Amino acid sequence: MADTIIGIDLGTTNSEVAIIRDGQPFVIPGEDDDPILPSFVGLSDDGKLLVGKPARNQWSLAPERTIKSIKRKMGQDTKVSLGDKQFRPQEISAMILRALRDRAAKFLGQDVKKAVITVPAYFNDAQRQATIEAGQLAGLEVLRILNEPTAAALTYDPKQTDGLRVLVYDLGGGTFDVSIVHTEGGVVEVLSSNGDTQLGGDDFDELLFNLIRDRFKQEHDIDLGANSTSHARLLRAAEAAKRRLSDHPFTKVEEEFIAEKNGIALHLSLEISRLDYENLIIPLIEKTMDCLQKSLDDAKLTAKQIDRVVLVGGSTRTPLVGQMLEDRLQRPAHREINPDLCVAMGAAVQGAIIGGDQVGAVLVDITPHSMGIKCLTEGDLFGGFSDPSFRFAAIIHRGTPLPASRSEAFRTVAHNQEKVEIDIYQGESEDVRRNHPVGMFLIEGLAKVPAGNHIVVQLDLTLDGVLKVTAKEKATGLSKHVTIDNALARFERDDRDAASSRLEELWQQSFEEEDFDSDSEEDFEEGDGEQNTSIEASEEGSSASMPVLEAGPREGQREAVQARALLEKAEKLREKAAPEDQKDVDRLMQNVRVSLEDRNWNGLHAACNALADVLFYLEDA
Ligand code: AMP
Repeated sequence: MADTIIGIDLGTTNSEVAIIRDGQPFVIPGEDDDPILPSFVGLSDDGKLLVGKPARNQWSLAPERTIKSIKRKMGQDTKVSLGDKQFRPQEISAMILRALRDRAAKFLGQDVKKAVITVPAYFNDAQRQATIEAGQLAGLEVLRILNEPTAAALTYDPKQTDGLRVLVYDLGGGTFDVSIVHTEGGVVEVLSSNGDTQLGGDDFDELLFNLIRDRFKQEHDIDLGANSTSHARLLRAAEAAKRRLSDHPFTKVEEEFIAEKNGIALHLSLEISRLDYENLIIPLIEKTMDCLQKSLDDAKLTAKQIDRVVLVGGSTRTPLVGQMLEDRLQRPAHREINPDLCVAMGAAVQGAIIGGDQVGAVLVDITPHSMGIKCLTEGDLFGGFSDPSFRFAAIIHRGTPLPASRSEAFRTVAHNQEKVEIDIYQGESEDVRRNHPVGMFLIEGLAKVPAGNHIVVQLDLTLDGVLKVTAKEKATGLSKHVTIDNALARFERDDRDAASSRLEELWQQSFEEEDFDSDSEEDFEEGDGEQNTSIEASEEGSSASMPVLEAGPREGQREAVQARALLEKAEKLREKAAPEDQKDVDRLMQNVRVSLEDRNWNGLHAACNALADVLFYLEDA
């Protein structure tokens, strides 16, 4: 067997090792089945060397015997202490590399000697040299030091046949990097790179930590940050809550016996909405957008000249990150390949290219269409300009790896609304009538409360195309679900060629709308266990009457949809208007567009109101 060249992502927080198996990159799992090796090195209390999870687990208890984030020190003429010994940064990195090399050797059943190792694009010569040295210390011949964004671009396009400009947005735990790479004739060139070495998911955790800490202090007058144990517990709970909020609109943070007051144990039990969390992190994401703009400026490119956007790093799982990025660049971002693993995969691809091996496009199981429900757009938002319309609220977005489980919150629109109709669609158009109906059901017996009753709709989509849709009244827990067996009827996951062309298609498509044929009616079963009723899928565009749900709440999203609808309306009315009115409409439309682009929601509201006023007059004229 020829020497295998392994690909290593030597990360600040986590590291991985990948190989090419059957023409596909494959990230090798550890003994615990987890492909991620935390980049922690430590000494146990009896002096044994620990690498990975055991070292991470002891970090908060024994920081003097544990080293994290050694990558930040690579290339520096410094030493770090581990127990009573001193080590250079490359020696610590070598321990991580050694663990990865052993992992690969064990998996392959043969020794491994050659590697490609990735580094950030901004690493200087000293940092690259230190990485090579670390590899050598770990018994590896480092065939290539590869830039991380290049690795990510390679994973998405191993053949590199076409001249593409790829923007790689990499938001990890501790750092943010954005790079623009150009692939042409087998050569990948980094056109520009920018970033912030002090910005990442850890900062998101800290903001959430502060929010929980403040609320607990308000309630109990106790500072959970003051005691190191409760501090550590709360930080871990905040990180876990952050992850859950990526998939759900609300989450509960619960920690028993987190503090004590007057001899009485206090428990933490707090609900956090995604909206609250997103409002906290907007300024941090805005910061990444500034870096992105600088990167574009340095490459002398505009957003329009970017062909593809690729997401890397665990923090890009935060929906708002992808959303703000797509808003800014006006094109979809690719998140099909696991953002934690794609750099290691790209390193393995580079290894195979060096070794002369064949690598195919990476195949992943994704949903080829967005899945969501019909809901009402608030019609009367802009002072009397009433145009309520149904729209499609995607819950699982196109390109999401399967299996996927996501939920979103919606609100009832009427007082004492006792039932809502959940109409499930697949497609990409904001106008639900242009999408493909998949099924519908009613949830009845809701509490008699004012409009705005939260209904959480959860979609669980399996690899086999089985879609479970659950609607739950948040306040009471009343819920109902249906299971649709053939939700991805057109998605033949065993067909590798089809899968690869789907990926290709995804890359090519931007925000254009698709028309879906509405030929098939799909049967589905009620999942409450009592009945097995076959119900016809609703007709396209039908049942535009109550009972309905309203989308929300997500800052800006609803306003943006409203504003775009208003602009469309203005476009039409403008044509029939007198020249002097046209000028007014143009100016007001421009104001709306600017506010939209700047994500200035207050300004947008005012601009829309002003435009709506004129349209109201034009409509009547
Ligand atoms: P990385 O450095 O690329 O391994 O990214 C690690 C960061 O990603 C940490 O801050 C994690 O908390 C964060 N992360 C991992 N999964 C998620 C998720 N589902 N939603 C939001 N952040 C996540």
